[in-house]
Amino acid sequence: MIKIYDTKTRSKREFVPVEPGKVGMYVCGPTVYNYIHIGNARTFISFDTIRRYLTWRGFEVTFVQNVTDVDDKIITKAAEEDRTAAEVAKEYTDAFIADMHAAGVQDPDIRPKATEEIDTMINLVQKLIDKGHAYAVDGDVYFAVRSYSDYGALSNRNVDEMESGHRELRADGQGLEDRKRDPLDFALWKAAKPGEPSWESPWGQGRPGWHIECSAMSEKYLKLPFDIHGGGADLCFPHHENERAQSEAAFDTTFANYWMHGGMLQINSEKMSKSLGNFLLLRDILETTDPAVLRMLMLQTHYRSPLDFSDARLKESAAALERLENFVTNTLWLAKKPTGDGSDLASKVETLVDQLKESFTESMDDDFNTAGALGAIFNFVGEVNTLTADAQVSAADAKALTDAAQAVVELMDVLGISIEVKDATDATATVLDDAESAAEMMVLAMEFAGFSPGDGADPSTVKAAMAALLDARANARAAKNYAVADAIRDGLNEIGFRIEDTPQGARIVKA
Ligand SMILES: [Zn+2]
Repeated sequence: MIKIYDTKTRSKREFVPVEPGKVGMYVCGPTVYNYIHIGNARTFISFDTIRRYLTWRGFEVTFVQNVTDVDDKIITKAAEEDRTAAEVAKEYTDAFIADMHAAGVQDPDIRPKATEEIDTMINLVQKLIDKGHAYAVDGDVYFAVRSYSDYGALSNRNVDEMESGHRELRADGQGLEDRKRDPLDFALWKAAKPGEPSWESPWGQGRPGWHIECSAMSEKYLKLPFDIHGGGADLCFPHHENERAQSEAAFDTTFANYWMHGGMLQINSEKMSKSLGNFLLLRDILETTDPAVLRMLMLQTHYRSPLDFSDARLKESAAALERLENFVTNTLWLAKKPTGDGSDLASKVETLVDQLKESFTESMDDDFNTAGALGAIFNFVGEVNTLTADAQVSAADAKALTDAAQAVVELMDVLGISIEVKDATDATATVLDDAESAAEMMVLAMEFAGFSPGDGADPSTVKAAMAALLDARANARAAKNYAVADAIRDGLNEIGFRIEDTPQGARIVKA
């Protein structure tokens, strides 16, 4: 049973989808006037992980995420840079999609853009006017907050105690307060001033307000009610409160059944802000950081909790990821290379694999507790390592060991992290994967190191090849990649050489 913490009821509730086996999910997308920062990235990575998990649990997920490509901020930026708003929006939409791909976030099933859904929004605004929930004033249209009796229920606010905190400006810079019937009312449609992007509407040339976008798009692509509405905690009020009011007032039905909000991100325990000079863009971080390491850092904190981002935590996450990679590489190697005639390893490892899948699922079912799920994986790695450390591995254990490695790969993949078996910096690992036997691996390794066996080998090339092998082994050991280090040793044995470790360093001698 999956439980989801629902912001509206302020409790964890059993997840019951509207349609059995299917999940409709809407996560508010970016306003494209800038590159996204690491705090935005956290929200998108969290919901990507949730979507992947629900899919793994057998649900057919429909994931919708809008792109706000017309907005005051885009228009301001365009004016500053002497470009059109459409050019600015196009540049940052492309950049957003590229950043999401770089971060390993899957594309939504549907990615509607505000500028391509103007009619859908106009129809919804008209519907709200027809039902007495909205009114037009000189080309603007406002939602009458007090006409919807449940306003404030999502963000746990009382309308009568609410200040009109969200003062809005008209396109011409005039305050709206005197135009609205109630200070709490918010804009559904804004009259445009000349030169700004605008569309024809029953109320004159204008453009949609931000909140109406998500109401229009979720109804169009998911139907109401849909299952999960997500976003960062900063969107809960007023954005989500307003979306909900518009949708429920227009369609007389529940908008979303579960409201999920991701926690905020801090840098070195401080709020991230431009004024503090600690404002980090996702793309800058990914220039020097493996996206899998970034995701590992993020998933070690529950999605609703505040997350602390720092270089030290990145380093820890890189080490944690490497531990998993080494486990998979070594365990797969062990499975290919029996060292004894029989043990009770197989049944013990299989039991651990079953327990791992159970506790992983239990954590993730509990409001997507990724930190607990990762904890289960690291416990498992520790326990299997202990079992295999001194065991005589027999051929009969091979399947269990392969299953153990694959379980880690599969579950990490559910979390959006693909585990790489050792890579380019250690050429022998690639060789190892391609070779069918240790001896063949040695030949490939020597070829890699510039030695071509057979046709009158130059002694200096042989020397270089031997040195390269010793280097590769030393690097593998330093990285605790014992599978590769052992493979080099065993491969040499097979072709009649052995490695001798001396106080002056290792050397290769005839066996
Ligand atoms: Zn939204």
